Amino acid sequence: MGLVDHLPRAALGHFPTPLEPAPRLSAALGGPQILIKRDDLSGLSVGGSKTRIFEFVLGDAKAEGATAVIASAGEQSNKLRELAAGANRLGMQPILLLTGVTGARELTGNRFLFEILGAEVHTTPIADRFDPALVAELNRLCERAAAAGHRPYLVYHPGKTGTLGTAAYVSAAEELVAQFAGLDREPTHLFLATGAAPTTAGLVLGLRTLGQQLGITGVSVASPHDQSKAHAIAYANKCAELLEIDRRIGEGDFAIDDTQRADFSLPATRAVIEAIELFARTEGVLLEPTYTGKAAAGMIAAIRRGAFKPTDTLVFVHTGGLPGLFAHVGEFGY
Ligand SMILES: *Cc1c(COP(=O)(O)O)cnc(C)c1O
Repeated sequence: MGLVDHLPRAALGHFPTPLEPAPRLSAALGGPQILIKRDDLSGLSVGGSKTRIFEFVLGDAKAEGATAVIASAGEQSNKLRELAAGANRLGMQPILLLTGVTGARELTGNRFLFEILGAEVHTTPIADRFDPALVAELNRLCERAAAAGHRPYLVYHPGKTGTLGTAAYVSAAEELVAQFAGLDREPTHLFLATGAAPTTAGLVLGLRTLGQQLGITGVSVASPHDQSKAHAIAYANKCAELLEIDRRIGEGDFAIDDTQRADFSLPATRAVIEAIELFARTEGVLLEPTYTGKAAAGMIAAIRRGAFKPTDTLVFVHTGGLPGLFAHVGEFGY
């Protein structure tokens, strides 16, 4: 019996995703063996970490009889793209509230895909996801959908859906541990991008609950160290309660590296562009500047600092995000 098997789950992606060696990347960095956990290949729309998360969140929505799902995030949100795709597959209407929108509509990357996916799109200048005025707007959209005859389901991550998203990555930890068993060397460290933090929280909770001792570093994409740490710990321990796991997560269970963090509106840094080019030119693997490029830049900097021995094995979790790359074409200097 797995840790999350009792939760409702909607089949939306292809799991397990591959855990692939990256020998040419490892050689180029002259350091440890690197394995890439290909959650970018999860398969829903362009794939990515949100496929796993929405298998659980939309599984819950379906179990509650929802006919419309409502969520907010930025214009290049992978979460909203995969939510819209998953909702379509389950016969629910996706209603999206795009945050931080002040200028003219620019139909590129994920924002373009929201239209193809037929989502009902609303916008707000509010950018802070914790702003009570944003929650009020989301509640208004839920009421509107209900008045139109829908049973609305609100996806708002500080609440229940964040805990379910965390549980999704506990299941990813189970998947990884099964894959580790087939390797000839035990992985010594895992890197991934940390945004709102459910993904990091789930992996940390799952890996520690299953007795894994490898180091875990979340490379924060936007928030300062203490805030990312606190969010991940809170999600992990709420999820532990939901799953009736006795283990609690503390400061010492994982590290947050906030040296790559940057506001989403800023152009990609030199280190991020170099990381994206290195993955592409050694392994043919595509990253993007908002999440995975920062996680890779953090891992590369750690390797170059001499943090690992050549006998170490690192796992890089590729969380997807490809469409967002196309919103950054002008920053690469080609
Ligand atoms: C959402 C997302 C993340 C971050 O996940 P959190 O759980 O919010 O920390 C990382 N990479 C990609 C591509 C994402 O879309």
